[in-house]
Amino acid sequence: MIIGGGPAGNQAATYAARLGAKVTMIERDIVGGAAHLLDCIPSKTMIATGGAISFSHRIGGMGLVEAPPEVDIPSLVRRVDGIKDHMRDDTTELLRSQGVEIIMGSARFTGTHSIEVDTVDGVRRVSFDAALIATGTRPRIPEWCAPDGERILTTRDCYPPKVFPESVTVIGSGVTGVEFVHMFASFGAKVSLVVSRQQVLPGKDPEAAAILEEDFLSRGVRLLKGARATEIERVESDAGSRVVVRCDDGRVVESSHAVLAIGSVPNTDSLDLAAAGVEADAGGYVMINHHCVTNQPHIYAAGDVSGKLPLSSVASVQGRKVAEHVMGLHTVEHRHLDYDKAASAIFTEPEIADVGLAEAEAFALGRKIRVTKVPFATTPKALINNDPRGFVKIVSDPATGVVLGGSIVGQHAAELISVIALAVTANLTVTDIVESLLVHPALAEALAQAAE
Ligand SMILES: Cc1cc2nc3c(=O)[nH]c(=O)nc-3n(C[C@H](O)[C@H](O)[C@H](O)COP(=O)(O)OP(=O)(O)OC[C@H]3O[C@@H](n4cnc5c(N)ncnc54)[C@H](O)[C@@H]3O)c2cc1C
Repeated sequence: MIIGGGPAGNQAATYAARLGAKVTMIERDIVGGAAHLLDCIPSKTMIATGGAISFSHRIGGMGLVEAPPEVDIPSLVRRVDGIKDHMRDDTTELLRSQGVEIIMGSARFTGTHSIEVDTVDGVRRVSFDAALIATGTRPRIPEWCAPDGERILTTRDCYPPKVFPESVTVIGSGVTGVEFVHMFASFGAKVSLVVSRQQVLPGKDPEAAAILEEDFLSRGVRLLKGARATEIERVESDAGSRVVVRCDDGRVVESSHAVLAIGSVPNTDSLDLAAAGVEADAGGYVMINHHCVTNQPHIYAAGDVSGKLPLSSVASVQGRKVAEHVMGLHTVEHRHLDYDKAASAIFTEPEIADVGLAEAEAFALGRKIRVTKVPFATTPKALINNDPRGFVKIVSDPATGVVLGGSIVGQHAAELISVIALAVTANLTVTDIVESLLVHPALAEALAQAAE
């Protein structure tokens, strides 16, 4: 029994079914996953269009005449919806082709081996031998804010775009917040960003964050550093609607719209976990061990609801591991999930990606490391692409040369980080990278240089 049809749920379902399990999936909203299809995919689709606009500003340096493209909102909406619908249909088809029964409705536990599902046709009762909780999360809304879906928005109110804000205040400078800043700025909005610390992307490589801040400032983004939003108010006047954001240091920002990007909360409140005897932490996230098993040996949790890394990629692999475990494959060759080795990317301009041990983290742990950094400007491909921004940084063990981590800032960083991710997972050394016969001219040459 799988509750939730996001990346965690559908990977577990298809893989378990392929291994011979009888699988039922309950989904209350969209097969493919709410966070995945309502947040991740639309945001990357819009960012890709924003990237095409930014690129159009760079073609002047490529022997072309600059001509700013015009945004066609109806066709952009069709594109965002089209990709989402395509992915939903593909996922549904795959699940059905594996024999997975899909019940559309909202599930809650009624016992340790039973659930009830509210469907449009009434309540259905289903019993199970093993269950997976993969119900994801939803945007966190603080008590000082009342999103109205029109001017005061959560991240889910932004897709598909109904109008483009003339000006917008983004609250929260984590991964989601900076991606929204990038997207709105690409579409020409005047953007302000409330940054609670002194650096955007707290916890990420300060050099990477500095490059991003530089890009934001060059695009006229106002950064309110060291400020926490404490109040948001919609003000109506003859001039129209405005949103006023007040911060704890007395600063006030006015814009046509505001977007909250201050984290999420788990979808566990309506599940009645207690009926199944499943324990959650104080924040409502389901607690799991390294096999994604909860305190009930036949009930698993995976994806964002498990409170580990909130990434679609991680959710999918957790789902697969759950299927392996429930079908007994963990007793043969099985590699535990190591969340410290998960690659992640931030789809800004330039892109930022990292994996494994970070430089700052190694220093904090007092661990001996070697860090090598090569700017993309040294590669012919970056010059050919007319975008020499950014760098590749590899963190390795000075004694053995084993690659421990790395970060990349620049064009296609999200793709290039896969090379370092593979090295980190497979314990490859910098020599393995140097001796790989890579393509020329390619941005990956900076990787080889850093490894050398
Ligand atoms: C704006 C934004 C951008 C993102 N971009 C990226 C990105 O670029 N890359 C990346 O890797 N990750 C990204 N993420 C994170 C990613 O979307 C999530 O990590 C991923 O979707 C988690 O998958 P999941 O299976 O845990 O949950 P979800 O995808 O949230 O799926 C959970 C499903 O469970 C259903 N459900 C909930 N409760 C019940 C119930 N009681 N009964 C039945 N069904 C229920 C929900 O309807 C939902 O469909 C982004 C997130 C946001 C907010």
